[in-house]
Formats: sequence, structure tokens, C-alpha cells
Amino acid sequence: MRTLLWKLIENGSLSADEWESLISCEDPDFSEELKSQAASARDRVYGRKVFLRALIEFTSYCRNDSYYCGLRRSSSAERYRLSHDGILSACSLAYDLGFRTFVLQGGEDPYFTDERMASLICDIRSSFPEAAITISIGERSEESYRRMKEAGADRYLLRHETADSSHYKVLHPASMSLENRKNCLRVLKRLGYQTGAGMMIGSPGSSYRTLAEDMLFLQDLRPQMVGIGPFIPHHDTPFRNEPQGSVDLTLRMLSLVRLLDPHVLLPSTTALGTADENGQIRGLDAGANVIMPNITPMDARRKYSIYDNKKISGDEAAENLGYLKAELEAHGYIAALERGDYLS
Ligand code: SAH
Repeated sequence: MRTLLWKLIENGSLSADEWESLISCEDPDFSEELKSQAASARDRVYGRKVFLRALIEFTSYCRNDSYYCGLRRSSSAERYRLSHDGILSACSLAYDLGFRTFVLQGGEDPYFTDERMASLICDIRSSFPEAAITISIGERSEESYRRMKEAGADRYLLRHETADSSHYKVLHPASMSLENRKNCLRVLKRLGYQTGAGMMIGSPGSSYRTLAEDMLFLQDLRPQMVGIGPFIPHHDTPFRNEPQGSVDLTLRMLSLVRLLDPHVLLPSTTALGTADENGQIRGLDAGANVIMPNITPMDARRKYSIYDNKKISGDEAAENLGYLKAELEAHGYIAALERGDYLS
């Protein structure tokens, strides 16, 4: 196993079988070694800085019907969307707290046409010229991605969810396709976005093999960001009775992604913090270097329920930034509010 780990560190690529061996290895000594190699790789590029991004969940409407997601069209969730001015004031609040990255995330809401998105991004860009703008609103046309980029967006998060096409079909209705999702990611990269892919860990029907496929896909795409969190069931979805994804496996995947690209911007996600009380710190210890505190207005935040028991008012909440900073420092990290671009 150590030989494989060195091969990964030296070459930055492995075969599907090799990935699967590393992913499935549960030996505790090996896990420790993996974690410490990943943490050192991160430290060599970014030091002990943890980049903080203000997350604004601006719409919970979604035209899709993904089987795992609490915002799916068929769920009975109460919906909301923030107004143009509401989004700008959330950015302003984030800016005053010191954040220099705003992440605008939401369901695939047809109300937010290309015109509305472009005008929103333009206004954010001119009000906060030195802040990075990250968008995460799912699959759109190339034209739409281009217009948002021209309006001033810098980064785009679009998890591929799984790179195994038969598993993709287990997670999504036939109207959605892995090919389209992958194509969107390639377009985003080509347009010059810092692009984020990523996957859930332990989604129903997944296996070490599907995760090996994810690693092969990441190895090929070379995204600047990778979002990884455990699957957590939501009571109003077809997967309500499925087991939660493993925290330990999520941590191993974080470490492997860090070693695949030591420069990657890798969030320790809210899902990880929901699945395990110390999950976000454990994620950093495994090689992650980004945390996305939530700055969505509280009324709306409560309604943005993609999985059950999602944390909304602990250390992950932007109001508690002071606690988060202290917590990070207590674990030897430095809270970094700067833009925190990908260093190539
Ligand atoms: N609509 C946007 C944003 C999606 S929400 C898009 O399509 O990209 C962000 C992420 O939450 C999703 O990409 C998915 O990986 C994750 N997610 C959704 N439901 C989840 C669940 N039940 N458990 C864990 N993560 C989930």
C-alpha cells in the first residue's frame, strides 16, 4: 500500500485498480500515514491557512428531481428565493465580516435567467471589486456560463456527484445525464472559471469501484476545487431510509484528492460537520483547506434543507466567525478571509 501511495505522490496519477486498493484500505496505520502525507502536501502549498468563503444559499427552488436531495422538485419543502437586493445585502454583510469570497449557491431555479444572473453578478462585482465571486447553480448552457463569466464571476462549483454512469442513473432521473454534467465541467474550465467538481461519499449503491471512477475522472479533469461530503439521508426523498455515508471513508477520500493535486482547494464540508461533531476539523487534518460559513439570512437558511439535521447555527454559521477562528487556531490553523485563489 505504501508503494502505491508513493506512486501517487510522485506521478499524480494511478489506474482504476490502484485507486480502488488505496480507497478500500482500512488499515489504521495506513490511514494515519495517508492523513499525514496529505496534510504535509497541503502545508507545503498553502501553509496552515484555511480559506473561509461566505455561503449564500439564495434560492431553494429546483427544477430537478435528484433522488438524494431535499430540494428536489417532488419534495414538499417550503421554497424561498432571495431578491436581488437581498443577495447584495448578504454580500455586504459578508464583506463587512471580512470575507473576500462569496459563494452564491442554489437549486436550478428558472427564475434566475441569464439576464438576472448577469445583472446580479455585475452589481456584486462593481460593489466589491476585490472579492471573488463563486457561482453554484447547476447545469446551464455554455452561453449562460459565458455571460456570468463576463459579468464578473470567477469560480463555479458543480459536483459531478459520481463519475460512474450506471451509478449516476441510480441517483438521478432519466432526464439528467452524467455526460451533460461532465460536459458542463469541461465548458466551465475552458471558459476560464476556477472549477469545482466533487462527489458524495456513500450514496446509495456506491462502492469502492465507483469512487475509483471518481478519482480517474478528477485525474483527467484536473479541477481547481473538489467538494466531497458524506451522503446524508433526507426524510422527504426516496433515499430516506438509506444509511449515511462513512465519515472515515470521506476523510480518506479527502486525503487522496489532496495527494492527487496538492494545490487543490478542498472544503471540509458542512455535511462532514453534520455527520460527525468534529468532522470539519477532522477534514482539515485529513488535508482540506477551505470552510464555507453560512451567511444566508436565518429564515431562508432553515428552509435550505438538502439533507436532515443540516447544521445552521454552530461554528459553520458566519455569525459565529469569532468562534470558528478560535477553533481553527486551537487546532493549529489560521483563518484566512482573503480571496484564496488556486495557486498553480
Ligand atoms: N444545484 C446546485 C447546488 C447543489 S447543492 C448544483 O447542482 O450543483 C450542493 C451539493 O449538495 C450537491 O452537489 C450534492 O453533492 C450535495 N447534496 C445534495 N443532497 C445531499 C445529501 N442528501 N447528502 C449529502 N450531500 C447532498
